[in-house]
Amino acid sequence: MDPQKRVFRNGGLVVEADRIKAIGQSAEIFHEFSAIAGELVDLNGRILLPGFVNTHVHTSQQLARGIADDVDLLTWLHERIWPYESNMTEEDSYISTLLCGIELIRSGVTCFAEAGGQHVSGMARAVELLGLRACLTQSTMDSGQGLPDHWGVHSTDYCIQSQKELYRKHHETADGRIRIWFGIRQIMNATDRLLLETRDAAKELNTGIHMHVAEIPYENQLVMDTQGVDHGTVTYLEKIELLQSNLLAAHSVWVNKSEIGFLSKAGVKVSHCPAAAMKMLGFAPVKEMLDAGICVSLGTDGAPSNNRMSIGLS
Ligand SMILES: [Zn+2]
Repeated sequence: MDPQKRVFRNGGLVVEADRIKAIGQSAEIFHEFSAIAGELVDLNGRILLPGFVNTHVHTSQQLARGIADDVDLLTWLHERIWPYESNMTEEDSYISTLLCGIELIRSGVTCFAEAGGQHVSGMARAVELLGLRACLTQSTMDSGQGLPDHWGVHSTDYCIQSQKELYRKHHETADGRIRIWFGIRQIMNATDRLLLETRDAAKELNTGIHMHVAEIPYENQLVMDTQGVDHGTVTYLEKIELLQSNLLAAHSVWVNKSEIGFLSKAGVKVSHCPAAAMKMLGFAPVKEMLDAGICVSLGTDGAPSNNRMSIGLS
């Protein structure tokens, strides 16, 4: 993980407390540190890798594994996932995040980007205990179709204020392992005001934005019909200057050539979730995005979109 991308055959590693103190050839490391080592672990025949970063996880959805198989995205959201999420308590979110985190650790993940749930304080409590690093995000929706009646639509002011409060409360906590980002669930449930104020608030606090982008053709069509742009979500986000280097655009499946250019020019990061893509969305033009210099990372998405948290089998 250094600029030279060094690989050590017969390597050795010294860990002090929770930090890597030294890394190098096993013989040299042994010579220098064995006299003061508290514990020696023989990893002969093993491979030590840096931790994986899972860039799109819904920790709150861990308890919902299997509740929404074999349906299209809108049925998945409106009839399965939102009724589930809207009934969660903070304690549910805590337990769900614990369970999700255990599975992430088991598959070698040490850091993840939360895609957005309701109870960030519950997530933060779990992450503190798990020892993972995380960029936590509240899911915000201030308009649009499909929200359960008892949930209602939050005001734009509430969406922004509650996230600023979460930032004040949790950002850089757990020894700096937790960061708070802003979240936009998706454009179909966001007013222009929410999009713009999220853009400005994230800039003001110098933090990231996590958003589901261009997931299905219907989304692009809706944006074209309502906003008068000639393609979909990415074209509109470019128009309102939301495409910036602090944006993590999840999925980004339905993007055309010029939109790939917009993402690249703005330095937007894309989280590619292959399992969720094949289950529900369609496959993103990953090669074209990489060729355009876009930073494309891997995500698993939540348990009901994938059924496992393995980044190696994402
Ligand atoms: Zn997602």
